[in-house]
Amino acid sequence: MKTKKVAFPETLHDAIKYFADEDRALDFMKLIRWPDGVVKCPRCGSEDVSFLATRRIWKCKSAHEKQQFSVKVRTVLEDSPIGLDKWLSAFWLIANAKNGISSYELHRSIGVTQKSAWFMLHRIRLAMQNESVEQFSGRVEADETFIGGKARNMHADKKGNVKAGVVGKVAVMGLLERNSPERHSRVKVRVVRNVRRSQLQKEIKKEVTQGSEIYTDALRSYSGLEREYVHKVIDHAECYAKGHVHTNGLENFWSLLKRGIKGTYVSVEPFHLFRYLDEQSFRFNERKDNDAGRFVKVVGGILGKGLRYTKLIGKTEGDSLPKKTASWWTETWLLNHLGFE
Ligand SMILES: [Zn+2]
Repeated sequence: MKTKKVAFPETLHDAIKYFADEDRALDFMKLIRWPDGVVKCPRCGSEDVSFLATRRIWKCKSAHEKQQFSVKVRTVLEDSPIGLDKWLSAFWLIANAKNGISSYELHRSIGVTQKSAWFMLHRIRLAMQNESVEQFSGRVEADETFIGGKARNMHADKKGNVKAGVVGKVAVMGLLERNSPERHSRVKVRVVRNVRRSQLQKEIKKEVTQGSEIYTDALRSYSGLEREYVHKVIDHAECYAKGHVHTNGLENFWSLLKRGIKGTYVSVEPFHLFRYLDEQSFRFNERKDNDAGRFVKVVGGILGKGLRYTKLIGKTEGDSLPKKTASWWTETWLLNHLGFE
């Protein structure tokens, strides 16, 4: 079937109309999946496949199980009965909602059940996960915060312990690479076990190039960084900035993050917190792009991140995530140590 040429969407309204055409939606997904235009069997890699136009799926001619495949196979959309039109509209909405979007809003906006909407949201967040191994360098802020219940009054004790068993309060570590002539500032954020030196410095050493300039507050967990970095400390008991020595970039990000969680979501289960962090980091890091650009970037993240619903809600063993990412680690750790469901 021939699709009439239409300009690529620029707004949500355009996107909904554009992807309502099933052939156009499929063409777009093909382009994301097989950028060179050659459809390959996701199970054996063969290019010898035939297209079954009536069902919009392919059949691999090699002899193996499950010869038929759709464009969703081996992506975060795998096994989902929801149509590409709704999926792509949801991608657009989530990529571009400033403070995030709740499963309730998504359910009403695109006409799926709230359970399906919740499921879609989490899969899309997975697509937003930044798996970049590129280290930060130049001028980098490092800071930590607590998210959950009474986060505002929550402090670590002198040893940096977060009170064990306090459900809803999770320690989060952030790094922000400041603007450089090449690029605007960006963040990496993740859940940590506690805010002790070993935890925080392990993250810093993994994510920041040696010799970079690092700005932190006076928390003792950061002392010793001067051995590998140019470490500059701003003591918040004295003031919040001395020239370029401050952590205000991250402070702003924290307030954005907390406002988003508070305003949009009724509750964020600690078990899922890392997904919200991924989502908000994505929006922050891609804030200079336009809506279409952010949309394409998120859809591009669907590959190699197949995820089963059951795994997502933490009810079964067996199916594991294809890649052991830091977030995967966090998820497992939270499950094992805090007993979150
Ligand atoms: Zn095959």
